[in-house]
Amino acid sequence: MTIEIDLYSDTQTRPTKGMREAMAKAEVGDEQQKGDPTVARLCERVADLLGKEDAVFLPSGTMCNQIALLVHVRPGEEVICDRTSHIVNSEGGGGAALAGAMFRCLEGARGMFTPEQVEAAIKPDNRYNPRQVLVEVEQTSNGGGGSVWPAERIRAVAAVARKHKLATHMDGARLMNAVVASGTSAKEFCRDMDSVWLDLTKGLGCPVGAVLAGSKAFIAEAWRWKQRLGGSMRQAGVIAAAGLYALDHHVDRLAEDHKNAKTLAQGLAEIPGLAAEPVETNMVFFDVGATGLDGYQFNEALKRYGVRVSVGSARRVRALTHLDIPAAAIPKALDAIRRVAMRNEAAAE
Ligand SMILES: *Cc1c(COP(=O)(O)O)cnc(C)c1O
Repeated sequence: MTIEIDLYSDTQTRPTKGMREAMAKAEVGDEQQKGDPTVARLCERVADLLGKEDAVFLPSGTMCNQIALLVHVRPGEEVICDRTSHIVNSEGGGGAALAGAMFRCLEGARGMFTPEQVEAAIKPDNRYNPRQVLVEVEQTSNGGGGSVWPAERIRAVAAVARKHKLATHMDGARLMNAVVASGTSAKEFCRDMDSVWLDLTKGLGCPVGAVLAGSKAFIAEAWRWKQRLGGSMRQAGVIAAAGLYALDHHVDRLAEDHKNAKTLAQGLAEIPGLAAEPVETNMVFFDVGATGLDGYQFNEALKRYGVRVSVGSARRVRALTHLDIPAAAIPKALDAIRRVAMRNEAAAE
């Protein structure tokens, strides 16, 4: 069965015709010596957007997180973050394997912890405790349900970090979703962050790439790690052009994804046996436990109707809206979801 409506992730987007044209026309050079004008423009553009001095173009968001850890953390030192965070759960243990980081996971609400929780997690600086060096926040919180950290909360968390001389890092995989959903600027969200990155391959719809930003000194160190881990991407202007195109054409339209996600959640609320979590951006998490199916079985049944979701925990299913999911796909997806939920209910009777 071919998947016609792929709600698995917002990484499923394909470069559009306009994006491919921009890529084909890109001016290029060797990225190594800042010789690629398109990569340089993308880095300047993102640094400016995020209010940071400098930026580096990297192949993926995972590499942005890992390189940020390598710059901020020495082996045995501790990072404070939410227990649902991508940096802990979805990067192959890279934080431990590469940077030697220890993680102190806080129990946030919808992936967002409080400044009080950070304060309570701070340990005395003595030889028994791992040295605490970094606080990490994820905007939007993926595991938390696509939730948007309010800017004041981020600033309050950063203030506690600063008071105890910890650095701050934002995993901004979907920062632009937070910007569009809240009306708060990207700069405002990450004003007090020492490092922050944007993913180009999620809602922004690029085939590859992410941009990590910070101070000049931070980016110089990040470049050293980029070199150690594989070096420069040569004529990467071809892919950086997709990033510039996305920043011009694919940011405001994230509002459509958010609207589609809300419509999806409203439809789910009417299906017996399904319970959807609150929707703030393009992520819709719902519990399928009451249908008698676990998430994996639910997804397999759904695929027979040409619809795919992703499965986090046994009962918790995730559907993401994105560039390749038009509004008209939502009623179709709901119809398939309803059939799977109801048919199983009928079979169980
Ligand atoms: C996708 C994602 C990443 C990793 O980004 P890739 O570009 O897929 O490597 C990191 N953090 C969060 C919150 C994500 O959703």
